Amino acid sequence: MTAWSTSSMKIRILNILEQTMADGPGFRTAIYCAGCAHHCKGCHNPQSWDFQGGHEVTVDELMEVIKADSMSDVTFSGGDPFYQVDGFTELARRIKAETDKTIWCWTGFTLEEIQADPHMAQMLPYLDVLVDGPFILEQRDTSLLFRGSPNQRIIWLKGKPDDTIPGTVPLVPLK
Ligand code: SF4
Repeated sequence: MTAWSTSSMKIRILNILEQTMADGPGFRTAIYCAGCAHHCKGCHNPQSWDFQGGHEVTVDELMEVIKADSMSDVTFSGGDPFYQVDGFTELARRIKAETDKTIWCWTGFTLEEIQADPHMAQMLPYLDVLVDGPFILEQRDTSLLFRGSPNQRIIWLKGKPDDTIPGTVPLVPLK
């Protein structure tokens, strides 16, 4: 086995934002994927709902971009990465195997919904933080950091929680 694995598995993305500071703490490489069926009322990004939007890239190509920036951690957003869980799991596995970067992932599913679905749950062991749940327009609060409505939780799946970030949920045991 070689030191690095390779993967031609594909993920359909809308955009890659490099060195963004808006998608989690510090500098991050943010991968915005195509496709979301949650259709939250008031979604800030309804153009991301189309599962045929954007273009396909391989996990190898994404790894090149991620590894080229030694300073930035990684964010998965969309759309909803859990609709492309096979590709994102492979990407997350590679990131953890080949870098020391943290991964934050935004999803419209709740953690409990993901845990109840073995196919979706396969990605959880590789994520550091999951920001979960749908955006609820009636509860919108623009003062929240990294969230649109207070039902959404910033769940530390591993590592020491940063209690200075409101909405942090430190201990949700994985089933
Ligand atoms: S989960 Fe996010 S991208 Fe999907 S509809 Fe809701 S707010 Fe929009």
